[in-house]
Amino acid sequence: MPKTLCLILGDQLTTAISSLKAIDKTKDVVLLAEVWDETQYVKHHQQKIAFLFSAMRHFAEQLRERGYQVAYYALDGGHRYQSFSTAVKHAVNTHKPDNIVVTEPGEYRVLKAMQQWQADLGIDVDILEDDRFYCSIQDFKTWAKGRKQLRMEGFYREMRKRHAVLLTESGTPEGGKWNYDADNRKPPVKGLAVPKPYQAKLDDTTKAVIKLVAETFSDHFGDLTEFHYAVTRQQALTALNKFIDERLVDFGSYQDAMVTDEPWMFHAHIGLYLNCGLLLPDECVAKAELAYREGRAPLNAVEGFIRQILGWREYIRGIYWLKMPDYEHENFFDASRPLPSFYWDADTDMQCLKQCVQQTQTHAYAHHIQRLMVLGNFALLAGIDPQFVNKWFLIVYADAYQWVELPNVTGMALFADGGVIASKPYAASGAYINRMSNYCKSCHYQVKLKTGSEACPFNYLYWYFLKTNADKLSRNPRLAIAYKNLNNMDDDKLSEIMNSAEAFLNNMNEA
Ligand SMILES: Cc1cc2nc3c(=O)[nH]c(=O)nc-3n(C[C@H](O)[C@H](O)[C@H](O)COP(=O)(O)OP(=O)(O)OC[C@H]3O[C@@H](n4cnc5c(N)ncnc54)[C@H](O)[C@@H]3O)c2cc1C
Ligand code: SF4
Repeated sequence: MPKTLCLILGDQLTTAISSLKAIDKTKDVVLLAEVWDETQYVKHHQQKIAFLFSAMRHFAEQLRERGYQVAYYALDGGHRYQSFSTAVKHAVNTHKPDNIVVTEPGEYRVLKAMQQWQADLGIDVDILEDDRFYCSIQDFKTWAKGRKQLRMEGFYREMRKRHAVLLTESGTPEGGKWNYDADNRKPPVKGLAVPKPYQAKLDDTTKAVIKLVAETFSDHFGDLTEFHYAVTRQQALTALNKFIDERLVDFGSYQDAMVTDEPWMFHAHIGLYLNCGLLLPDECVAKAELAYREGRAPLNAVEGFIRQILGWREYIRGIYWLKMPDYEHENFFDASRPLPSFYWDADTDMQCLKQCVQQTQTHAYAHHIQRLMVLGNFALLAGIDPQFVNKWFLIVYADAYQWVELPNVTGMALFADGGVIASKPYAASGAYINRMSNYCKSCHYQVKLKTGSEACPFNYLYWYFLKTNADKLSRNPRLAIAYKNLNNMDDDKLSEIMNSAEAFLNNMNEA
């Protein structure tokens, strides 16, 4: 009987993956490999490497317990494999399979490498569809075909209908509306009690991986001390259930709120588990819908959460595969400034950025509005080169893979794709951050001041951004009011703004 080698990538850690379902565990071999290039193509946060290596080692153990024959190439296992290609080549020489089966990877560059294996190794390579997603890459292309605009909202409604999620018996949306976003913008209130997030106990496998990472990747961004992420399916399910039971109820209302020294808020913290396979999207959606139907969580929270997974996550993946490889090089505003050093060391007097970078160092996590309206917004207003911004976002978050990071950064945060994802740039002055957080209360800068050395930099950078990009943005109907205000500004005020912005941008690393 022919023998198959089944490669499982680090973001395919589920027995529901199509490649595993295609093999016969009595005779086939499963390969998992910690390869050097994957730790180095960007220098990932130390917790991200620790999380993935530990999750991979636990998954391999689980497969062995279920009777699979597993070849596991550990980074500290005596031989260092440079890339997936070299690891697969070694496994082919050792196990002499008749063919290779693998589920399509999440990233374009890995797919390109994989497509070479058949020619390079001289055996059949079957690349199977990744059916963990609600919408296949091909289905998304079909949806996108012929559409002038590829907005998430239309896609999301179609997904709700196609998969019968949060619908009444007659097929209309629960509650009568498709989207409850307008109810999900409450600012934080004093004394908000946020339930403690799930923290996994570190077992010997995780401790060994943490030691390996500390010894091998000490020059990478981030700390390891606070590592408490789930590394097994069971733990990830516990984290999900804890979210559904304790935080989902307030997820909607405070989805956009930011609070000093409170990194977690009412978010789920499951992106890293979803993206590596420890959790599956449909089970997260089903659990949230059940909580609504049983009266344990309100509709604005449940719809908001489901929209993130069934809507945004699927849509973002669709855009990535539709637009790659050109999407990597988008730079609509020709932004060219380097990334300021405070994105790495948090050494800035801007309290909002300091908070977001510090917690990113400590937890490899920031929630969506911190990524979009603080870290992304600043990079947009300051004209940072999208290449640097993308690289930073890919490095620092435990849930970052290019398929999900790139459209969120290039499309959503930076508008570098010229409006494929967003209908206008998510540009905002300090007033937005002041409304949605308590950061400004303890900031060196004054959010009410518009210009001068004491003024909040977001305030003058906002107008500077609109002014310097007027040729590209002033005809956008969604910016009509902003440009009307800009055009009505008296010359003295405008020149104060431009001077404050230029002075700031010229000394950005000292801000
Ligand atoms: C600039 C920027 C960069 C981002 N980079 C990444 C990234 O590298 N990896 C990543 O998974 N998400 C990314 N996101 C999306 C989102 O911020 C994270 O998914 C979310 O913060 C993860 O935390 P959570 O699990 O607590 O999410 P929750 O707020 O609890 O949401 C639940 C889940 O919905 C999904 N989701 C929500 N928003 C999005 C979105 N915009 N795109 C895709 N999925 C979404 C995630 O799987 C998330 O776990 C980025 C967003 C921005 C604005
Ligand atoms: S004042 Fe400006 S820089 Fe300071 S925290 Fe508020 S928004 Fe950020």
